[in-house]
Amino acid sequence: MYAIKGSSSDSLAQRYARVQAEIRAASDAAGRREDAVHLLAVSKTRPASAIADLAALGQCDFGENYLQEALDKIEALRDLPLTWHFIGPIQSNKTRDIAEHFDWVHSVDREKIARRLSEQRPAHLPPLKVCIQVNIDDEDSKSGVAAADAAALAAAVHALPGLALRGLMAIPRADSNDHNAAAFRTLAMTLSSLRNTIPDLNTQDAAKLDTLSMGMSDDFSAAIAEGATFVRIGTALFGPRD
Ligand SMILES: *Cc1c(COP(=O)(O)O)cnc(C)c1O
Repeated sequence: MYAIKGSSSDSLAQRYARVQAEIRAASDAAGRREDAVHLLAVSKTRPASAIADLAALGQCDFGENYLQEALDKIEALRDLPLTWHFIGPIQSNKTRDIAEHFDWVHSVDREKIARRLSEQRPAHLPPLKVCIQVNIDDEDSKSGVAAADAAALAAAVHALPGLALRGLMAIPRADSNDHNAAAFRTLAMTLSSLRNTIPDLNTQDAAKLDTLSMGMSDDFSAAIAEGATFVRIGTALFGPRD
């Protein structure tokens, strides 16, 4: 199940190079263009200095789960040209800060949250890019909309002016590679079916509905095989979290 070998005593540069090589290998094996798969470095619990180090190696996209911690790092690193992704559960009293400080949100799972993000997105910024989180294994413990309700939520998000609907995100039950591959395939099929179910989806918006945020340190090669466009990787880049 562990795609990434090597130990936590390796340098950040070594781990970054190894993850990039694994992404390339999985893209090649799947006959996909390498630039179709983006690495989202999940930097929750890591200090701003670790993000700056990875940015110096060329990484642009960073994912955060905890708002206050993220805001501190965004402020500390505001001189760097980074793209910030919110990937954690969203409480309604947190939407304003997310709308004001992030470029992407991967974890929208309720219409109420989507409305608030849209209303609170500052007018001088482009629409907030949004993925809908799907609870792909129907787990009680997980955030995400039920797969059966994804189409209705996608239609609602599409209609909101402050948001740009980009695709779907899921975190499969950490189970087996076979299970996760099947879950990734289901998410990919759910995304393609959205193109036919969202009312008034013009060609331009349909073309932007291109994002599958799936795959983490232990299963990103399987996710790439099933069409992932963002793989969200923390441990394999930064080492184990405390
Ligand atoms: C922590 C986290 C990740 C990264 O997990 P790793 O196993 O450390 O790669 C990816 N996605 C989400 C939503 C997370 O919370």
